[in-house]
Amino acid sequence: MIVDAHVHLFPPRVAAERAQYVAQDAWFNQLYARPGVRLATMEELLPSMDAARIDCSVVAAFPWADQALCEEHNAYYRTLKSERLARLAVVQPRARQRALDELRRCLDSGFAGLGEMNVDAQGVELADDDAWGPLVECLVEAGGTLLLHASEPVGHDYPGKGRNTPDKIYAFALKYPELRIVAAHWGGGLPFYYLMPELGPTLPNLYFDSAATEYLYDVRVFPTAIAAAGPERAIFGSDFPLLGQDRSLKHVRSAGLPAETLAALLGDNAASAYRL
Ligand SMILES: [Zn+2]
Repeated sequence: MIVDAHVHLFPPRVAAERAQYVAQDAWFNQLYARPGVRLATMEELLPSMDAARIDCSVVAAFPWADQALCEEHNAYYRTLKSERLARLAVVQPRARQRALDELRRCLDSGFAGLGEMNVDAQGVELADDDAWGPLVECLVEAGGTLLLHASEPVGHDYPGKGRNTPDKIYAFALKYPELRIVAAHWGGGLPFYYLMPELGPTLPNLYFDSAATEYLYDVRVFPTAIAAAGPERAIFGSDFPLLGQDRSLKHVRSAGLPAETLAALLGDNAASAYRL
């Protein structure tokens, strides 16, 4: 089974009225103000999956700062009916009870978890226990997974680069060992620290996805991150439509990984992390 565990779709209304949403949300403005940047809907995803021979996509929502916009996105995802999708909801943690109620509603209707959450876009630090604690509890209870946007503390700047760096993700994962967490974009470099012997055993719950790899690292990141953090922790994700699914798969396959490691990366690990 081949899984693309990091795909973004938008409600057709957002794609049609992009300017209105650009004016409403600062992070959306940063990423999507330029008309050339693609917004995909379900109608584009399925043909792309067929062309790339991807069996299942994990569709993540956009981290709107406004809870009402989060709910609009979730409502669209609730209408998506396909055996080949796992859906992630999004909420604004600062909305407290309203966010919690919305998360529960989504998990009850079959969502696989929460994401892609983004502390910079949503103005809430991972250290804010009052905001995160109840959401984590709800996810753990329902067996849902949290997908977190992560950024490198070093290197070039780009739209979407934030301040959710390995140190913060490490502290969060340590605090909530029962929560399955996927740190996107190779966790901003956190896999390297698994070379510290005390680190791995304390983080049984943490996975890393490869979303947008081509924009961030050269292809050596695949064998290197896997060697450091372990072959059971790395999950393939394209960040479609930012990067094409077929192109991203070809990139992974050019990394020269052993067949067993590749199979884990392309499907088995996503199945464990998102309970597919
Ligand atoms: Zn991301």
